[in-house]
Amino acid sequence: MEHYKKIITDIYNEVKKVEDTGRTANFIPELAFVASNNFGVHISTIKKETFGIGDFQKKFSIQSIAKVLSLTLAYKLEGEQLWDRVDVEPSGNPFNSFLQLESDFGKPRNPFINSGAIVVCDILVSHLKNPKEDFLSFCGDLSNNKSLNYNEKVAESEKSCGSRNVALCNFIKSFGNIKNEVNTVLDFYFHICSLEMSCEEISKIFLFLADEHFTTQSQKSVITVPQAKRINAIMLTCGFYDESGEFAFRVGLPGKSGVGGGIVAVHPSKFCITVWSPKLNEKGNSYKGMLFLEHFTTKTASSIF
Ligand code: GLN
Repeated sequence: MEHYKKIITDIYNEVKKVEDTGRTANFIPELAFVASNNFGVHISTIKKETFGIGDFQKKFSIQSIAKVLSLTLAYKLEGEQLWDRVDVEPSGNPFNSFLQLESDFGKPRNPFINSGAIVVCDILVSHLKNPKEDFLSFCGDLSNNKSLNYNEKVAESEKSCGSRNVALCNFIKSFGNIKNEVNTVLDFYFHICSLEMSCEEISKIFLFLADEHFTTQSQKSVITVPQAKRINAIMLTCGFYDESGEFAFRVGLPGKSGVGGGIVAVHPSKFCITVWSPKLNEKGNSYKGMLFLEHFTTKTASSIF
């Protein structure tokens, strides 16, 4: 960890000074109130060593990072049948795109674009008795963290401007690939996106994807080894929408971004690292987050390649 600490600190100080040309997400009004100069990093290793710097303990809206957690729970509950409802191909299109849905008969290209995540939410609504509560307790169990919660203001804010997601959900339903009420599915989707966590909490929660046995912090099995392989593979190929190739090229780790400015990256069998900086590039991914991780995997020679 000493080695990582020094490198993380140096890169942090260097990247902090870089002029950020990005913008905070403005299509969810509530997110625009977050101070854009927040910048935090936290790493957790599978040997349970940790290190954080900057705003690593401040909670923020994890947005699409939650899509990995919802996918994990749906995969556990639904098994391989899940892939009949959502594909595993990179879309090469923006996260909220309609393109491809029509020619693909309502089957989203992958679970991390909005259309795919909405189908995953529909699957969870079918399985869970109290979807919002049950999802929260699943996330809490992953890292023994009972302090997780949704931010109702962010969920409401997104709902008030969510026409695009409403349209996506209705469009998919017209093909029969949404089984529940559109309003119920979207209310659940907006809530999971509004989950609040700090960099520290995210890197601890996602450690199950790095751990050799894919267990929680209290050694409970989360998913099987082949299931973890698949989730990490989808993160690598689809975690950054139409910038997934660029992230693999520059950083070289499975990862997932959110429009709250967070990015989590996993090195299977080594560590999980989270960066938060709210200003986004034109593809909706944190500008400084990507820059930080690019330097980190380069200087520590710790990409998967
Ligand atoms: N809640 C956001 C949306 O549905 C999530 C997008 C993201 O983080 N990329 O548009």
